[in-house]
Amino acid sequence: MSGSPSGRNITATTLAAYYHFQCDLFLHRSYHSFDGGKPRAQPSELSKAQFERGGGWESSLLKWLDDEGLLLNVLSGLLEGSDIQEMIELDDRHHFFITGLSFWAPQAALAKEFKGRGQQPVRFGIAKPDLIEIKKTHDGNIWWQVIDAKSSKAVKTSHHVQIYLYHLFLQQLLPLPRYTPAETASVWLTPSPGDSPSLDGLKPIAISLLSLPLDDFMFRKLPAMLALSPESVKWHFNPLCNGCPYEKICSTDAVRHGKLGAMANINIQDAQLLQNVLGLTRTTSSDHLTDIEDLDQLLNSSKRLDKLHDLYPSTVRKVQRILKLPTRKSKDMPKSALVMAAKTKTTQVINRRNFTLPNSEDITVTISIVHDPSISEIGTWCISVFSNFEVFKHPEPLHGSSGQLIPQLASILRTILELRSSAGNRPRTQCYVFAPAERAALQSHLINAALTSSRSDEDLQSSIRLCIGALCDGAALLSTAFQPVILSGALLDFLGKRGDKTKTQLQGCLDRLGLPQEGNIEELRLRIQAEVNRIKTEGGRLQIQSTDGNCEDGRRELGQLPRVVAVKLEVERLLALPIPGYWDLPLCFTSLIGNMRANICPSEEDIFSAYRGGREDDVTSMLTTRNQCVLEIIRDVRRRVSTDPTSTNSLLVNQARVLSANFMDICREDYLRKLFFMQQFEVLTKLAELWQARIDGCPDAPLLEYQFTNRTVDGGYIHSFTLLSGAIDLPSDKERSFFDFILTEDKVLPAAENQFGVPVESLFDDLSVANLVFPLNKYTMSKWTSQATAVQNELFVTDIQDLIIQGNHTKVTLRTWGSFELRLGRGKRYRLSPRLVDFNIGKVLNTLVELDLQVPSDPSPSELPPFLQLFSDPHGFAQQSHKDDNTVSEYLKAEALIHRSLRELWSLGSTEAGSLTLKQSQRRATRRILSSRLTVIWGPPGTGKTYTISLSLLRLIQVRHRCKMQEPQIIFVTAMTHAAIEAVLSKLRRLVGNHQIIPNLDIAWLQSVKIEHVAKGVEHSRPDGIHTYIYAGTVYQLFNFSKRSKLEVDCAVIDEAGQLGLGAASLVLRSLRSGGKVVVAGDSEQLAPILTAQYPRLDSRLFGSILDCLMYTAVQPNAQDGMRPPSPAFSETSEISTIVQLTENFRLNPDLGNFVSTIYSKAFQPQKGQARKVATQLKQLQLQGHEGAIEKDACNFLLDLANAMLRSSQARLRPPRMIDLTSNNTEDPNKMPRPISLALVRLIATSIRQDQIGYETHVRGEAAFGAALVRFIQRASPSETIFVATPHRIQRHAVKEALKSSVDDLSSALGDLEIDKNEISPARGKVTVDTIERLQGSEAAFVICLFSHTHTSSATSALDFLLQRRRLNVAISRAQTLCIVVTSDGVLHPPVRVLANAESAKGLAFLRAFEERAWSTDVIIDLDALA
Ligand code: SF4
Repeated sequence: MSGSPSGRNITATTLAAYYHFQCDLFLHRSYHSFDGGKPRAQPSELSKAQFERGGGWESSLLKWLDDEGLLLNVLSGLLEGSDIQEMIELDDRHHFFITGLSFWAPQAALAKEFKGRGQQPVRFGIAKPDLIEIKKTHDGNIWWQVIDAKSSKAVKTSHHVQIYLYHLFLQQLLPLPRYTPAETASVWLTPSPGDSPSLDGLKPIAISLLSLPLDDFMFRKLPAMLALSPESVKWHFNPLCNGCPYEKICSTDAVRHGKLGAMANINIQDAQLLQNVLGLTRTTSSDHLTDIEDLDQLLNSSKRLDKLHDLYPSTVRKVQRILKLPTRKSKDMPKSALVMAAKTKTTQVINRRNFTLPNSEDITVTISIVHDPSISEIGTWCISVFSNFEVFKHPEPLHGSSGQLIPQLASILRTILELRSSAGNRPRTQCYVFAPAERAALQSHLINAALTSSRSDEDLQSSIRLCIGALCDGAALLSTAFQPVILSGALLDFLGKRGDKTKTQLQGCLDRLGLPQEGNIEELRLRIQAEVNRIKTEGGRLQIQSTDGNCEDGRRELGQLPRVVAVKLEVERLLALPIPGYWDLPLCFTSLIGNMRANICPSEEDIFSAYRGGREDDVTSMLTTRNQCVLEIIRDVRRRVSTDPTSTNSLLVNQARVLSANFMDICREDYLRKLFFMQQFEVLTKLAELWQARIDGCPDAPLLEYQFTNRTVDGGYIHSFTLLSGAIDLPSDKERSFFDFILTEDKVLPAAENQFGVPVESLFDDLSVANLVFPLNKYTMSKWTSQATAVQNELFVTDIQDLIIQGNHTKVTLRTWGSFELRLGRGKRYRLSPRLVDFNIGKVLNTLVELDLQVPSDPSPSELPPFLQLFSDPHGFAQQSHKDDNTVSEYLKAEALIHRSLRELWSLGSTEAGSLTLKQSQRRATRRILSSRLTVIWGPPGTGKTYTISLSLLRLIQVRHRCKMQEPQIIFVTAMTHAAIEAVLSKLRRLVGNHQIIPNLDIAWLQSVKIEHVAKGVEHSRPDGIHTYIYAGTVYQLFNFSKRSKLEVDCAVIDEAGQLGLGAASLVLRSLRSGGKVVVAGDSEQLAPILTAQYPRLDSRLFGSILDCLMYTAVQPNAQDGMRPPSPAFSETSEISTIVQLTENFRLNPDLGNFVSTIYSKAFQPQKGQARKVATQLKQLQLQGHEGAIEKDACNFLLDLANAMLRSSQARLRPPRMIDLTSNNTEDPNKMPRPISLALVRLIATSIRQDQIGYETHVRGEAAFGAALVRFIQRASPSETIFVATPHRIQRHAVKEALKSSVDDLSSALGDLEIDKNEISPARGKVTVDTIERLQGSEAAFVICLFSHTHTSSATSALDFLLQRRRLNVAISRAQTLCIVVTSDGVLHPPVRVLANAESAKGLAFLRAFEERAWSTDVIIDLDALA
């Protein structure tokens, strides 16, 4: 083979390892047999154990296939293609899997491919795919698919690379047409523990998605890279290098050559960004410097930094994050501890406050966990306790097997808890592990034990509860310092007013709290009340001493200390170690404690070898030493940070707390308990984000300069500021003032902030005021006065009233509420940061507790409260018809008669009757509502969901009237947003009006209907018992209303249900009476509620929207993972389905409709075409001679689009590869304009100094093109609405800037170009530039989607966000007339690693489908003209 000596080759395994290490040098060295790295002779014991697990999975899979009669086991050596074919032909089964195949890569065919691309061939080695699936079709053809069995939890890029390579090779060996390769290859993952293998474990990926990046890599980049000299190959020493045979040599080289890898824990993407920044600012004087020296010089050069700040502010922010520098711009950039550690080779303190490592404790518990990958369980463990308490003075460390961990751990915790009862003892205790993986292993061990252990083993149960209560942050019980605040709120809500609860309910609650249940109602109430106070005090936040030794009211634990601290994370947060690439415990210990004791800390591999070898004494001794080393590291870190001269404050702001192990398992029912946990965990996760930012002084908070104050007509005050830095969003729902920000002065010295030396925001207690309406009143004021004094004196809660762009400045108007002593000072700077606002959490938790109390022990599904039955068994719920079968058929007959009479009236010319006549799929939804208890209306964009549910409700009332069902009904209608609720109300009123207009129509039934907006639930008047009421309102207001009026609801309707979480939905569905109906409408292909925390996939349906939950459960009653849209088998034609998909589309024209419908189970029936005038309007555009290149390109693109529509000649646009015939006009094609609604522009960014162009310039280029399109479209169609959909806020800002800069010169040509800031559904002729989340639920004639990312080096991390199908779908489906997607090659052809995320793979397939159907062109953006 020319170009590479014989013997060198690349196997699929090497290529997979290359994608794991993401390192060119690894592949280069592997291929050229570079031997300087001395590859390990033997694999480590840890990798052998991992391999064993993989082997175990493969064997059990093969056994299962064999048992199923599906396996062909090939026991021969290397095979030729003809041998493989012969084996397949000889097997007479129609479906089977081949294992044991091995064959040479088809070198000759591959060499041809290389030569065809002008490259030197690369040699590939032997291929050994795990499985080939074979299906023989009736016409004698054979379908095949490559499958690899993997024991990892998720599919990885390395798996994709391997299966693609095997597919590529087999394509040459199994010839067409007889052998048809599958369009996919698959990875077969392990089933859940306890389950046997099944075909559900197959995770397919489209070959078409893999082929573009991998063919490009294999046949172009790979030969070019292998041809380089070793010095020219790219590499970066980083944490991924762990396990690479060349680690030693690269580690040494990184330090010797001052590479970025000389710093610890800089990942490849971050290193790339730092390299780019160095490129942007490099001068001739820095040419001779190493990367580390250059970085140091850059941070010391205010000139270079200022230039960088001005041109690339967001890039600078990223650099600050990577180098752990404060993000606020200051006069003197502080030194980066990371750079200094690499430069001086000494440990440096990172000057950043920390709330997760306590500054002291009385009892230190260190735990070492050895995880055994071969069994995916804890293998062994060791616990050491260090303390001066007599009982722990000389304790032997405890150790043992996995099964002994919980009892032993519990015995230590009990001893500590007992210490608390001795007089005067309140020992502060903190548990530690070294690595985060140990903490995860410990917590999942405890949870698994709770789920699987026998309920009858009371000792074990009690130990489990104790350990979970004391050690799990995220366990179902969430016994954290902040949980009592959330929980006590829920319990107080639960108690309500005197007389609200029955004795049984109170006893049920006491039972859950583990308290006695005897006594009268009042005694029971008081007992619960006392327990609420106890858990608030006992488990609540401890007071912390200030620097002068005193305690201050309200100054409690800052943020939240983890129950088990992972020391490695804390060292990374606080210290920069002079260790290249990455470090483990022995390296950390040696670096901190010194070389003298370098060898005492055992390595993971030493410990694991001893464990695998059964040398128990050695394991115990090594783990004991390990625990001692962890303790020494903790002490050393504390010593360093407290004595560091550069740190102005104490960096460790918390002390350890007194151990508590409250196990507050309030809900017993499994689903409710998980939901209860999730609601609390969401709040705590949101708070954790706020805490970290606040403790750092809110570095990303916008800075405002105060100007003046005005008095408002209602006697209040509004304050004007100028925005100095940062970005501010005006909330999309400005109907209410949420006062959702806090405002405080941005003082120059953080130390001067208050006596504790912490930013005042970190003293703010969000939870106590999270559900209060500001301004506070006399009833709620006590919550403010219990805040820390510093908060009351120095902080406002604030509501953003308005944002106005004036010239080059942004003016911000704020309403504030706070202490009257706090005065704003003209010219002073203030920072604005978010606070937690949550009106629902207490109500949701209270609802869940109430529902739980209604669950009888060992209930049948029909005995469950309706809300619980709805999502735990939607099929059972739906099948419980509200009346007998006769009633249903009477209802349906009555509906048919009404429908027929309206059609007749319509045919006689009554347009009002037409508006009351449902289209086919809409009518199906109505009839489903009439006949079933549960209806899920799956309404893709523009299909009239709101109209359908509004008219269906009226029809339901009318039908009942016809059937002489006279009892008045109560119907609740809710949605996530006020706008959606308004939309339902106005549809209902219009439809009622249309009924009233039609002459001679029997509308007696309407007399009994009242439609009311519940704006204030606590004040809304009760139903009169005579009329049927449709009440529309937010879940919050309907909850208040139903609670106060003790309502039972006959029908609950949720519109936009894809955005409403299950917990929030419970606020309305709790009132559903037994047998009541539920109607849920939404689109599961649009954006779901945003969750802050991560949840187990197992219960994903509980943690998303109510729509996702019901659709998922309706389709897959027993499914355990992922969401799937319903297959046609489960759509409306299916007897068992509750889902009706609306298919008539009133927004999207045929082009757009047919494209968007590719992701829905049924095609749309477009109800309107593209307006013909679009083509002629665009055709009128003319250049005026003064435009720049970008404007010219935008104008010419639109002119060509017009020409293509008018069937005139044009040169620039490529026609779609896939033309949708259904969208063609049936009239004479030569005369009629051709509707074109899908257009795509591929931006190509060019520069003569590519490495000196930052991310922001690329964004400006894209924005300039987007803005130019807006201007020309507005010029052509001035009365039409335009949306510019941007995935990121930075893009939105850039487009607004680009539009703003041309307002003056455009105004003469266009009249006023108005950029709509606030409105989601703007008036005609307006332009809205916003993120996709904020455009959901609205529509516009023209939509420009900015999906490009031409700054390739930062693309990988951005693509997962950009390529979410739901996000793409929402953006594209806003368009009524024309959708222009502006994208780039980097997005259309992303690196293969993006595909490991299944969501991104789906998004990419969707975007490519758009490309295939769109008229497209390339546009070159000259970045040098913008830089
Ligand atoms: S140690 Fe890291 S940088 Fe060196 S060859 Fe291996 S993967 Fe590449």
